[in-house]
Amino acid sequence: MRGSTHASQRTPAAPDERGVTPDLVVCGLGPAGRALAHRAVLRGLTVTAIDPAPERRWTATYGMWADELPGWLSPQVVAATVARPMAWGTYAHRMDRPYVVLDTARLQAALHLGDANVVSDRVVRVGPRQVTSAAGARITAGRVVDARGLARSPARAEQTAYGLVVDVGRCAGLDPLFMDWRPDNGADPGDLPSFLYAVPLDDERMLLEETCLAGRPALTGAQLRTRLLARLRARDVRLTGDEPVEHVRFPVQGGRPGSRRFGAAGGFLHPATGYSVGAALAAADAVAAGRDVWPATARVVHRLRGAGLRALLALPPGDLPLFFDTFFGLSPDAQRAYLSGRTDLAGTVGAMSALFAALPGPLRRRVAAATLGVAVPSRGRRASAMMGA
Ligand SMILES: Cc1cc2nc3c(=O)[nH]c(=O)nc-3n(C[C@H](O)[C@H](O)[C@H](O)COP(=O)(O)OP(=O)(O)OC[C@H]3O[C@@H](n4cnc5c(N)ncnc54)[C@H](O)[C@@H]3O)c2cc1C
Repeated sequence: MRGSTHASQRTPAAPDERGVTPDLVVCGLGPAGRALAHRAVLRGLTVTAIDPAPERRWTATYGMWADELPGWLSPQVVAATVARPMAWGTYAHRMDRPYVVLDTARLQAALHLGDANVVSDRVVRVGPRQVTSAAGARITAGRVVDARGLARSPARAEQTAYGLVVDVGRCAGLDPLFMDWRPDNGADPGDLPSFLYAVPLDDERMLLEETCLAGRPALTGAQLRTRLLARLRARDVRLTGDEPVEHVRFPVQGGRPGSRRFGAAGGFLHPATGYSVGAALAAADAVAAGRDVWPATARVVHRLRGAGLRALLALPPGDLPLFFDTFFGLSPDAQRAYLSGRTDLAGTVGAMSALFAALPGPLRRRVAAATLGVAVPSRGRRASAMMGA
């Protein structure tokens, strides 16, 4: 607990510069690590947090489902709420689930680190109870959690997006969009597809983002920019040319569930959607308390989500809108279970089974083959949607 030391856990390498053996060392202060360190400090634990740039201001725009917001987090961090977002495959769907866009600066401030010992350094080795930093410090702790995120690698599928922050007055007629796969972005029908994500940042601004859900390799920022500009022209959104830009690129594969990792590194990133911040915030307090957040059911869900990504990666480009028409035709409960039910095995299996049963025959065969990881040739099949194969 705070202020206490545990002599038996000390090593000759000095626990931390305050001479305290912390209860918890958190490696990495992204949204997940910061949320964990924050909750641990509030629980009265002694915490050391290590990040090469702990004071770095976050700039990404984070969105999540309103029901994922943990009760301990101030509602002040919500910048905008979309009560019933739209989703388009080949036709429009209203989602019966409020979506929130966070005020990034407020979120970061809300996850304050209190009296944690914050170290500006890079962790080079992580053990169950000891970390070694690039500067040579070795810190022993009751527990070490690795929240260093996911490193980019050609072997890992990535999500990419190119976004513009546009005055709301220029977006007349543009509803907030969870995803919009309509083909008015000028992309060649055989190319890796992308969708439009459109959310309010506040009363005056919207973020309009052309997004590549997953690709290995994913679409580049330049490709997405071209598509976004074409799409906005087609929808009569006139730009000034001075709009602030958001660039998105992060791996969606590589997380490994386990008590010693958290956030994207720890399997909290949904590989088939790219979302992780809501799941990490929702679990931060339990992880701080040392509870097991990876029951066997959650590990199976993690594998099923990986299969979901494989299915997406294997679909021919033209099938994506139809696939999402089918997904958004599922009941709100089934959608919620698939998108957010990290520990809800029955819900995830139910949603995937319902989706599978509702898919048109040829699509169902391709999804089955991809989910099982087998190659099933199909007549007239084009390149996969996401792999650019
Ligand atoms: C522009 C943008 C928009 C996004 N929008 C959304 C969204 O709307 N919703 C959503 O859920 N996700 C979104 N994402 C993805 C989301 O940002 C990541 O999935 C999320 O940040 C993962 O959180 P994390 O804390 O696990 O890892 P990271 O955010 O990657 O943080 C890892 C931290 O570890 C530190 N670190 C790295 N190496 C070391 C080391 N050796 N030693 C110590 N520290 C180290 C890094 O400095 C960093 O602070 C977006 C990403 C981008 C780029």
